[in-house]
Amino acid sequence: MPAVWSESHRLHDPHGEVWVGVTIPPDEVPARGEVIRAALVTAGARIVEPTPHSRGDLTTVHDPDFLDHLASAHGRWVAAGYPNNPGQDQVVPYVFPLPQIFGSLPRRLPVAESARAGWYAMDTTTPVGPGTYAAAVAAADCALTAADMVLAGERAVYAVCRPPGHHAGRDFYGGACFLNNAALAAEQLRRGSAARVGIVDLDAHHGNGTQMLFYERSDVVYASVHIDPDAGWFPHFVGRADETGAGPGQGANRNESLPEGAGDAEWVPAVGRLCAAVAGCDALVVSLGVDGHVDDPESPLRVSAAGYAEAGRRIGALGLPTVFVQEGGYELSTLGGLVVGTLAAFEEEMGP
Ligand SMILES: [Zn+2]
Repeated sequence: MPAVWSESHRLHDPHGEVWVGVTIPPDEVPARGEVIRAALVTAGARIVEPTPHSRGDLTTVHDPDFLDHLASAHGRWVAAGYPNNPGQDQVVPYVFPLPQIFGSLPRRLPVAESARAGWYAMDTTTPVGPGTYAAAVAAADCALTAADMVLAGERAVYAVCRPPGHHAGRDFYGGACFLNNAALAAEQLRRGSAARVGIVDLDAHHGNGTQMLFYERSDVVYASVHIDPDAGWFPHFVGRADETGAGPGQGANRNESLPEGAGDAEWVPAVGRLCAAVAGCDALVVSLGVDGHVDDPESPLRVSAAGYAEAGRRIGALGLPTVFVQEGGYELSTLGGLVVGTLAAFEEEMGP
C-alpha cells in the first residue's frame, strides 16, 4: 500500500526529556522515521509526499489557541533567555494549571514563559524544540493526505507519522505527542464520505487523547488494547474497561486493558474484540503502535511479530477503507519489520 512520509519529521529532534526530575535520553527520535522508511523501501512500497493542509483542517480537532501556543512556544522560550539561564534550550514546564488552583476564578494565562509552558502540557517528558511544531504539522499532513487518498479510492494508505499523536487532546500535548494524527484522519474521513469511522488503537499505551476527543460522539468509535493503566503505566489517568463513552457516544468506546507480561495469547483475542467493536463502520483508522512487542523498551507486553501479523489479518478481514497511522514503537532493530509485516498481512487478507 502507499505510504505517506515526510522528511520534515527530522525537525523534531529532542535531546533529552525530564522524567521524575531526571533528564533521560528520549526514545521518540528521528531514527524511528528513517528505519520505517528504509523497511518500506526494501518492501517495495510506494512512498508519497504529504500535501500541505490548512489550519482549518487542524482546528477540526485542535483548539486554535493551543495551535498558536505550540507554534510559538519555542521562539518565546528562547527570547525569554532560558537556554542561557538556567540552561534549558527545550520548552519544559515546571508548573501546571490544575483546576483546583483556580477554583471558581477565571483561568488567567500567566506572564512568565516558564509558567506558560505548563498551560497545555500534561507532562515534562515531551520537550518542544525549534522544529517541533513544523514536524508535528508535517505528521498531521501525512495523516490527512492518507485520509484524502482513501476518500479518493485507495483501499488502504499508511501515514508514517512522527511525532506520534494518540496522547494529544483538543488542547493538550504529552506522551511524546503534539497533534493527534489519528483523530485528524478520522475527522477527514468523516467530513468525506464516511458516516461512521472506527479507530482501532494497537499501541501498547492507551490513546487517552483520541478517546477523549470522541468520547461523547457516536459517529467515531474508539477501540484500544493496551497495558492496564492500573498496573502503573502511562497515561495513568484513563484507559479503563469501564470507560464506555458518554451521552450520544455511550457504547462507542471500548478499552481492553492487559496485565504486564501479556503476549499473543491475550493480545490477539483482544484485537479480535476491537475489530468486532468497529464492524459496521464505513471506514477505519488504525493507530499502529508496535511498542507492545516483546523487545520494546517502553512496555511490558510481550506480543510477537506473528501476533502483529495476525492483527493485520484480522483488521484486513473487516474489508474497510483503512488509514494506518504510526504511533509508538521504539526498538529500532525491530520497528521497521514489525510495521511492514503488519501491513503485508493486512493486504494479504484484504486482497488487491
Ligand atoms: Zn505507546
